[in-house]
Amino acid sequence: MPVLDSLLDADGALVVGAGLAGLFCALKLAPRPVTVLSPVPLGAGASSAWAQGGVAAAVGPGDTPHAHAVDTERAGAGIVDERVAESVAREAAARIEDLARWGTPFDRDETGHFALGREAAHSANRIVRVNGDRAGHAIMQALIAEVRRTPSIRIVEGLTAVDLVREHGRVVGVFCRRLGDRYGEPVLVRSRAVVLAAGGLGGLYAVTTNPPGVRGHAMGMAARAGALIADPEFVQFHPTALATGADPAPLATEALRGEGAILVNDLGERFMPAIHPDAELAPRDIVARANFRQIKAGRRVFLDTRLALGERILTEFPTVAGYCRDAGIDPVTGLIPVAPAAHYHMGGIKVDEWGRSSLAGLWVCGEAASTGLHGANRLASNSLLEATVFAARIADDISGLEPVRKLAPFPGIAWDEAIGEATEARLRTLPAVQDLRRVMTDLVGVERDADGLKAALRTIAELEATSRDVTRSYLNMTTSATLVAAAALQRTESRGGHFRTDYPDTDAGWQHHTVMTLEEALAIRAAA
Ligand SMILES: Cc1cc2nc3c(=O)[nH]c(=O)nc-3n(C[C@H](O)[C@H](O)[C@H](O)COP(=O)(O)OP(=O)(O)OC[C@H]3O[C@@H](n4cnc5c(N)ncnc54)[C@H](O)[C@@H]3O)c2cc1C
Repeated sequence: MPVLDSLLDADGALVVGAGLAGLFCALKLAPRPVTVLSPVPLGAGASSAWAQGGVAAAVGPGDTPHAHAVDTERAGAGIVDERVAESVAREAAARIEDLARWGTPFDRDETGHFALGREAAHSANRIVRVNGDRAGHAIMQALIAEVRRTPSIRIVEGLTAVDLVREHGRVVGVFCRRLGDRYGEPVLVRSRAVVLAAGGLGGLYAVTTNPPGVRGHAMGMAARAGALIADPEFVQFHPTALATGADPAPLATEALRGEGAILVNDLGERFMPAIHPDAELAPRDIVARANFRQIKAGRRVFLDTRLALGERILTEFPTVAGYCRDAGIDPVTGLIPVAPAAHYHMGGIKVDEWGRSSLAGLWVCGEAASTGLHGANRLASNSLLEATVFAARIADDISGLEPVRKLAPFPGIAWDEAIGEATEARLRTLPAVQDLRRVMTDLVGVERDADGLKAALRTIAELEATSRDVTRSYLNMTTSATLVAAAALQRTESRGGHFRTDYPDTDAGWQHHTVMTLEEALAIRAAA
């Protein structure tokens, strides 16, 4: 590592990433001092702000946390940790109250109770929403305002973490790059407690619903530092991203199908009832594969909201209606073209019930973590919930170590919009990045087989070795891609989000988590 030009002491806990997981943890740590790193201005660049459905919580009449846990386990295809599912479902109501207390304007009925939505594979109405499909945006706006009012939280924009730093076996900080500064010296930010909350890896795929900066950096960085990784092969593909050529692909929320919208192909055939008794509300992986196969067979797939929603889509799903308007589609009279897109990572950095990773000094929450809650397939709207539950537990855990004191002065790093836009544009178009994303979508996507996965691993190795753009950041991406493809090759069965055309059945012998180190993944890659 080159000589450092600066060394900053985070003075308290350091939270890497400013999505829901990171901000919730920072707020829960108050009044203990905490520094939050965000590569881009607060609120931008996070999947959290794009969430449409809402937060799952058993807060409706007749519903119970146990019923919620059972649905979670069923969706997770045999490898959800029961204890985790039960405890997360139990803590849901308290975390929703936190969000409400910090200003989230959840939809409520005339009596003040939550107006709950329904999503696929939930046995009750239990999605706490905001203005129909605006949950993520509204939650993030509320939390950002609360964070800005909280004197113990320092936000640093324009720093991207690229490496974890270890001393005597303990994580003691992160190396960061300044915005737009690819070749300058990295900045070291030291802290006794590092919380990695830098999101998932959807953006590693060419077709994704995730923001451009969410590309497996967290998992790659932690794996390179030696952390154990769990279930990396389990990627969820959302069945209904808008197929308008936009990158990222805008999402048409599942709640539309919850309201009765149907899927049809370009011959006008409704194909889901023949595939699953729940038709369009079958588990996500089944609907995603059905859409994928239609498209592979040369058909186009559309979401038809006309009968179910009519003009209501304009007021009750304003985000989706806006995406349609931008693409020149009128959902009141016409069909919405859709396709599957990489959406959510069930796997990630392995953590225990307190969010502790296998590396001392490193906690992980949000999509970057693998807590055992989602198993092979996430139940809709369980991820925002998981982010809050584990962020709160981590804050509790760290609070036992951190005294309450004041933040020491810290040199500011100013956000520069022009450099920010240029950096983003460059990252979007880098050939090495685009090649990697194409390989992931084509060979490590909705359907996989041994030949394709081996070819993917060889190409990832080649890109890593030959790319002129090998920065630490790119290495974090290829590392994550390697872990996903290697674990997918190793798991010779189909389960949840992982489907092998050469092993289409579920195998009871594989009813367990994958736990992998980077070393093991690299050995699989070398043999491919
Ligand atoms: C379109 C869409 C709709 C969704 N709808 C729902 C829903 O309705 N309900 C639900 O439960 N889930 C939903 N999800 C999933 C859910 O939004 C995410 O799983 C969740 O928001 C993840 O939160 P997070 O804080 O872990 O990550 P994010 O919100 O993605 O935040 C990650 C943060 O880390 C930062 N970061 C990234 N790399 C670095 C780095 N190297 N250094 C420093 N910082 C970094 C990012 O800039 C960002 O601030 C949806 C996801 C998408 C994309």
